[in-house]
Order: sequence, then structure tokens, then C-alpha cells
Amino acid sequence: MVDFHTHSNASDGTFTPAQVARAAKAAGLSSCALTDHDTVSGVDEFLAECERAGIEGVPGVELSVRAPFEMHMVGLYIDYKDEAFLKKLYRLEHAREIRNLAMIERCREHGFELTAEDLLENGALSIESAGRPHFAKAFIKRGYARTTKEVFDKYLGFGKCCYVERKRFSPAETIRMIKDAGGIAVLAHPVQITKDQEQLAALLAELKEYGLDAAECYYSDNSAEFTAMIRGLCARLNLMESGGSDFHGANKPDIEIGRGRGTLYVPEGVCGRQSQ
Ligand code: AMP
Ligand code: ZN
Ligand code: FE
Ligand code: FE
Repeated sequence: MVDFHTHSNASDGTFTPAQVARAAKAAGLSSCALTDHDTVSGVDEFLAECERAGIEGVPGVELSVRAPFEMHMVGLYIDYKDEAFLKKLYRLEHAREIRNLAMIERCREHGFELTAEDLLENGALSIESAGRPHFAKAFIKRGYARTTKEVFDKYLGFGKCCYVERKRFSPAETIRMIKDAGGIAVLAHPVQITKDQEQLAALLAELKEYGLDAAECYYSDNSAEFTAMIRGLCARLNLMESGGSDFHGANKPDIEIGRGRGTLYVPEGVCGRQSQ
């Protein structure tokens, strides 16, 4: 069993990269990828601890893609020291910092007294690596909402009043960036995009033209039916299967590494690993 979608405190998870590696080992995984948002700063520590633990560590990243809806692309097996890749990644990290500062302003305009310190006090290692879950924690701690879901539904979700866009590359650029760094490009959690088979078929076919390699057929929020449906689409389009939990530690307390909400199972053979 493997898990190819996890986050550490290098982005918006709560475990250190080494703790993610140890949790993967403890869960009985043979292989695990660290896929932090817009950064590979945790990968060195993660790979070293995977090696100590005796499991395969996969260098990864999760990039948000420019689209009229929330679209994320996971890159796996990337050469995370590739200079052209790091240069592009830096542009995204910098854009994240600008966005976070603008989002603080937007929150203040709506009467929520947030500061940059709130993000750091709620687990962000820096302003540029902070994500909306850190904002959500600050909202709750300051008594503006009771649950993360409430914060996202009312204020921070895509297009909501306190949401601020940040620079994203187009789908083609994002896929190219991952593949130029030797990685494989995986459409993350298609279940969050739509459950409509025809829409997903069209999207996957378009992304395939840009070089998409795989889609997350196994994911914490998938029903068995959705997994079967998306596996069928991948087979039809000659895409590989990938999958992961989207583990975030205590920032998504109901998601366990490897196991998701308890029933996730990502088989070892995903991402063509048997033939590698
Ligand atoms: P950001 O990268 O800063 O835009 O934040 C994206 C992260 O926020 C995602 O990876 C999730 O961890 C979290 N997130 C996004 N939408 C929701 C939601 N509706 N409910 C809970 N968490 C969410
Ligand atoms: Zn996240
Ligand atoms: Fe994501
Ligand atoms: Fe994720």
C-alpha cells in the first residue's frame, strides 16, 4: 500500500516532513510521496527520514492550476533540485506571499482582525508558505467561526468574500513544468472538480494533450463508484492511475495517512511502478 499525496508543515500540514515519513512507515506503507503546495522545501528532510525508516520516499509537489474552478496538479518523482523548476516554483511561492498579505487585508476589510502573526501562530513556517487552512485556524481561534468548513463555505472558499486569487500557471504550463523536471504529472482529486463522467472525460482528454500522465483514481473523498468510474476513464485514455490521502495532520483530522477516512487503499502498482 502507498500514499502519493501528503502535506507537511512546509506547506499547510501539521507534521514535520520527518514525522510524515515516520507516520507512513507506521501505517505500513511501502512508498510515500510528499506533495506540499508550491514548495519542495520539505523534500530533503522527508527523503532522508524515509531512507532511515526503510521505505521508498517520492519527491513531489502540488501546484494549483489556472482554471475557472479549483484545479490542482501533483508532480511525482520530480528532480526537485532542477534549476528551471525551482525558478518557476519560486515565482509561485512569491505569489503566495503576495496573495496571503492581500487576503489578510481583505479579511480586515470584512471586519476580521487578522495579522501576519496569526498565520505563524497557527502553524505556518513563513508567510510565503502559509495557506488558507492557517487562515481558517485563525478565524476559529479569534471566534469568527466554529469550524473549518464554516470558514471555507462563508469566507475563504474559491470566489468567497475573503478569497484572493494568486498566480497560477495554465494547465499546459504546469504539466510542462513538472515533466521538464523529470516528473510525472497527476491530476489531483478529480472528485473535487466534478462527478460528471462526460465532463471528466473531456477534461482528462484535454489535459492528456498537454502531457498529463495520470489521475488520482484513489482519494480520501472518492466513493467506490467514483473510483471505478475514473479508473475506467484512465484506462480508456491510456492514463496511469495514482492516488493518495491528502494527509494534512491535524489540519484535516479525519484523514489518516495511507488510510484516508478509513477505507482508502492505494495499491502498490499505481503510477506504473511495476514496470519501472
Ligand atoms: P491555498 O493553497 O492557500 O489556496 O489553500 C488550499 C488548501 O486549503 C487545500 O489544500 C485544502 O487543504 C484547504 N481547503 C480548500 N478548500 C477547502 C474546503 N472547502 N474545506 C476545507 N479545506 C479546504
Ligand atoms: Zn493543503
Ligand atoms: Fe489539492
Ligand atoms: Fe493536497
